[in-house]
Amino acid sequence: MAVTLRPEIAALQPYRQGRPAAPDAFKLSSNENPYPPHPAVVEAIAAASVERYPDAAATALRARLATIFGVEADRIHVGSGSVALLQQLILAAAGPGDEVAYSWRSFEAYPGLVTVAGATSVTVPNRADGGHDLPALAAAITDRTRAVIVCTPNNPTGPIVTADEFAAFMDAVPPTLLVLLDEAYREFVTDPAAVDGVPLLERHPNLVVLRTFSKAYGLAGLRVGYALGPVEILNAARSTAIPLSVTEPAQRAAIAALDHDAELRERVAELIERRDRLRDALRAQGWSIPEPQGNFLWLATGEHSPAAAEILEKHGIVARVFPEGIRVSVGEEESVEPLLRSAEEVVRTLPLGAGNAGLG
Ligand SMILES: *Cc1c(COP(=O)(O)O)cnc(C)c1O
Repeated sequence: MAVTLRPEIAALQPYRQGRPAAPDAFKLSSNENPYPPHPAVVEAIAAASVERYPDAAATALRARLATIFGVEADRIHVGSGSVALLQQLILAAAGPGDEVAYSWRSFEAYPGLVTVAGATSVTVPNRADGGHDLPALAAAITDRTRAVIVCTPNNPTGPIVTADEFAAFMDAVPPTLLVLLDEAYREFVTDPAAVDGVPLLERHPNLVVLRTFSKAYGLAGLRVGYALGPVEILNAARSTAIPLSVTEPAQRAAIAALDHDAELRERVAELIERRDRLRDALRAQGWSIPEPQGNFLWLATGEHSPAAAEILEKHGIVARVFPEGIRVSVGEEESVEPLLRSAEEVVRTLPLGAGNAGLG
């Protein structure tokens, strides 16, 4: 007889990682940073002592982030990736019978994290332009909602939430409701209208902002992210966390990355330039690309997504396939030409036209 498991857990799909790419293909499926780590980061990792447990409080990294953001170190919590922080915060706020609301399609980790907490996801469709419909999200909040997640720029579609939209949203939701602002791609944002969560923390005691070293800082493999927010909420998150899960190499590497922030920002600037160039070239091919503000672009290929992904793969581009479309990360400069060539072939050979959101 089979062991009795929680049925909602047994029904979950295990996490689907971006497909490993063939050795000669470009892996544009996980929004990773294509640049190798800064030499100082490599040195910091090598210097970390791994025979001892790490500093559970990540004291040095939190002190550093506190200086950068001008907040007290108590208002920063470091986790083994911002997904770990999301899980801790959801566990702290929501359990069986409770709801967690977010826009969809968004980050694919959200549904599983909510289910693992025993809570129920309530989703609201994105707008036609791929952005969050925040009035609809606010309207979906009930007296059972314990947390709401806002992802800006939205993974996988790309658009930001504006400061005005977010201000209206915060006014519309109860002050007792935990609002998680997932800014995993904040460093890639160039639109001056975009919300910036950190300065809003003073005004909203129910707001937590999530950032990561995985994307712009290129430390995805080390697992380190951070949350900024009120002490009581972060303490509750700390209570749900597995202690000591942020390793010493990760803490030291993050500090080294911050030490070389200006150089890393130059690489981010290159990725932004490449992103905007890809956006323009794809739009010129006829694609209606939602405004990309992260390090990825969205091709709304709809039901043709598997066929389109096959064409990309034939050209050495491994992308992330969703039921509604394909997400391609901004990768190496050498990936630009095959990506554009394969996207052009998709337009030419698949019936994406009228009625499909993919082509403008
Ligand atoms: C990549 C990503 C994260 C964070 O990933 P970690 O590696 O766990 O820090 C969080 N939110 C979104 C929307 C992401 O795309």
